[in-house]
Amino acid sequence: MLEARTAVKNLHAYRPPLGGRQGLRLDFNESTIGCSPRVLARLRSLDAEALARYPEREPVEREVADFMGLDAAQVLLTNGVDEAIHLLCSTYLDPGDEAIIVVPTFAMYAIFAEAEGARVVQVRSGDNFGFPLADLLSRISQRTRLIAVANPNNPTGAAVACEVLLQIARAVPMAAVLVDEAYFEFHGETILKSPERPLNLFVARTFSKAYGLAGLRIGFLAGDAGQIKVVRRIASPYNVNAFALAALPEALRDQQYVECYVADVQRGRGVLEDELKTLGLHYWPSRANFVLVRVGSAHVEFIQALRTRGILVRDRHTDQGCEGCVRLTVGCLDHTRTLIAALRAVVEKLRERLEVRV
Ligand code: PMP
Repeated sequence: MLEARTAVKNLHAYRPPLGGRQGLRLDFNESTIGCSPRVLARLRSLDAEALARYPEREPVEREVADFMGLDAAQVLLTNGVDEAIHLLCSTYLDPGDEAIIVVPTFAMYAIFAEAEGARVVQVRSGDNFGFPLADLLSRISQRTRLIAVANPNNPTGAAVACEVLLQIARAVPMAAVLVDEAYFEFHGETILKSPERPLNLFVARTFSKAYGLAGLRIGFLAGDAGQIKVVRRIASPYNVNAFALAALPEALRDQQYVECYVADVQRGRGVLEDELKTLGLHYWPSRANFVLVRVGSAHVEFIQALRTRGILVRDRHTDQGCEGCVRLTVGCLDHTRTLIAALRAVVEKLRERLEVRV
């Protein structure tokens, strides 16, 4: 009988709850207003010829590199950050190697690392999801070949100083250090601009969040030209589709659209955090487009009550250290106001069952 590799058979399936997402989607950290109208117009202008051809990634790679102030050889466009993670794991991890992650965090690092037969070393965040630098450094071994850190982190929204990440990269020259900046725009700090980036440091970015293009599946991996050249070997030459390649230059040109949305989200994040304080719900200050909130053991009812009011949010109860927690995406200000009105009603209704401090 045909059998999958042991590493793959042992994987826990990761099935994000994508079904039946009607209403205000505050569950996947997507944009709530969608992409720039200029991007949509560009997509509508595509004809059959554009789809008949195999897509050519390189010219767009050059545009992205120019935009980022990098050399084209330092950039690989990918099918979302997910593919960037997958490629890094396939490039650097042999069976039995170790990949270090800081938990709680984004699920795909562990999945792709384990799929290669690597051992995932989980380092727990400190109090209030503080970055556990000393613990992480103490877990580095001869077999450490990958360290992945989301900055800001998902689902906590916590950020770590670039200096700390550089320190980690310098401490393990034999390991690939991935800094996943999927939420960079909402945070505003990047390690990409640090002078003297170590050769083993990689940065991943996505156009799924601030740019409103999660459905197109496009992101990129940046790093040392020599290392990117090696990673490129195992990427399909057609990993990014023609729609995504056509849309991206236009998306980059309309920076005003992205900046307006990001400003709206940042304002809304502050308004939401103030409201959570007023409602007596514990939350962790966020640098991303979402806020993690502890509602307690009634988290399922809380989520259901919001759903009844047409708002989808994400249960994070099973994440390490996130018992009773729910993640709320921050969309545009109008959508945040809608969320706040629903939160007030739900807290009123479930007050006795929630962890509320008044
Ligand atoms: N990294 C992090 C930290 C994320 O939260 C997400 C999306 N949930 C991703 C990567 C995936 O990004 P993409 O859509 O580009 O694959």
